[in-house]
Amino acid sequence: MPAIKKILVANRGEIALRVMRSARELGIKTVAVYSEADRNALHVRFADEAVYIGPPPSAESYLRIEKILAAAHSTGADAIHPGYGFLSENEDFAQAVEDAGLLFIGPSAKAIELMGSKLAAKAAVAKFNVPLVPGTSEPITDVNAAKKIAAEIGYPVLIKASAGGGGKGMRVVEDEASFHEQMERAISEATSAFGDGSVFIEKYITKPRHIEFQIFGDKHGNVVHLFERECSIQRRHQKVVEEAPSSILTPEKRKAMGEAAINAAKACGYYGAGTIEFILDDKLNFYFLEMNTRLQVEHPVTEEITGMDLVKLQIRIAEGEKIPFAQEDLKMNGHAVEIRVYAEDPANNFLPDIGTLQTYKRPQGHGIRVDDGFEQGMSIPFYYDPMIAKLICHAEDRAGAIEKMIRAIDEYEITGLETTLGFCKFVMQHEAFRSGNFDTRFVENYFKPEVLVSANEQEEIIASILATTLLNGNGNSKQADENTAKQPVVSNWKKNRL
Ligand code: ADP
Ligand code: ADP
Ligand code: MG
Repeated sequence: MPAIKKILVANRGEIALRVMRSARELGIKTVAVYSEADRNALHVRFADEAVYIGPPPSAESYLRIEKILAAAHSTGADAIHPGYGFLSENEDFAQAVEDAGLLFIGPSAKAIELMGSKLAAKAAVAKFNVPLVPGTSEPITDVNAAKKIAAEIGYPVLIKASAGGGGKGMRVVEDEASFHEQMERAISEATSAFGDGSVFIEKYITKPRHIEFQIFGDKHGNVVHLFERECSIQRRHQKVVEEAPSSILTPEKRKAMGEAAINAAKACGYYGAGTIEFILDDKLNFYFLEMNTRLQVEHPVTEEITGMDLVKLQIRIAEGEKIPFAQEDLKMNGHAVEIRVYAEDPANNFLPDIGTLQTYKRPQGHGIRVDDGFEQGMSIPFYYDPMIAKLICHAEDRAGAIEKMIRAIDEYEITGLETTLGFCKFVMQHEAFRSGNFDTRFVENYFKPEVLVSANEQEEIIASILATTLLNGNGNSKQADENTAKQPVVSNWKKNRL
């Protein structure tokens, strides 16, 4: 297969930049596409060429296959990288790219299609001895039959959309009395969000941990795994803190899960980067959840502990190269933690808090990596995912990575909007997280908005007292009172909320 000379990145934000950086290191030219809202975005400035593809809503720009293909043709790109989100898991897009004679930097359209349906994926991997969460293997249509199955499985159960993603289309049912109503809601949600009302039942695992394996396959049938990532700290079934390796896997469990992940990938003849998501119960039994057929948001923690550039690997595999190492050659080095810095207000149910980055200063130093797509003065567009940045810390061990993360969060200065930084610091300082004894219910079990507000207020009080004392020391108490009232130190301290 020919070497790639020019890659069009069909995405925006941090992931578009991240892909372009690796391409440039390989001597490959880059093409950005952008919507009206991203005219001045960093990915547009970084790319060798940029093509305007339409108005801000994704449906009129980043999701328009024909516009992206036209941009590839007009710039002479010979490959397309889809990033994550948008068209990355759209089999029609992958097929259209290949039909246009371009390389799709990702898996085959067939693999995307198969794994895009949670039910079809479960059926496929079951044949390869991958353990599944107990549940139905067909879409449920008959409520009474479904109730019977739910009773057999045992409550609580989870009703899930087969076409679901991004934590949407899931409903926990505690008992039979509410089953009917929840099922109807799940079907209507799935229909409106994914255009496919198929739902199925899974046992709701209590105290679950989300542990996923990074896998890579090549076009010659080889598949390896690059260890696991733990993503149990979630809000709305969506990840906000990730780490590698997991704090609870033994070498034996890691080996068993790694083998299951490789089998799941083989079940669909997979090539490219992919993620096999598992859920673990409190006895560390693991079950296949789903496969994500793309580069994952949290891939940097894997890069940090393996020292590998996953995007370069994706490009090489798309070009037809074999995976350049064997499973036995891989070693984990240290520990990495990632936090997602969202423009969201943790004190207000993590609702998006879109605005302008009035101050934006990144943390720096040994073992710190910031993947972002913004600069001071820029606004977070309302149209897309409100993630500002990913902050990744790598150290020799887990405790070191956590301490580094706390230091980095303290150093991160963001004003102009609320962020998840303070919440993430709360996680890093929490005994349950530090001890490794936590599960996906961390937020509901331990987090209350008051934790941030009161800590913040406490700091303000301390700051005022300090300022008053210092100024009183100068012997002018009246002036001290006035100065305290407009102490800049208070508002500065407020910036990180905690
Ligand atoms: P999961 O799908 O299991 O949550 P990730 O944690 O990798 O896996 O999250 C990917 C999801 O994040 C996408 O499916 C999408 O909903 C959302 N997302 C984040 N950033 C973007 C982006 N730049 N463009 C589109 N979608 C995005
Ligand atoms: P999505 O496509 O939205 O990422 P997943 O099937 O990967 O859907 O599930 C997302 C999250 O929902 C998981 O990380 C986990 O926290 C929770 N979850 C999913 N299935 C179960 C289950 N059977 N029991 C308990 N929690 C679950
Ligand atoms: Mg998932």
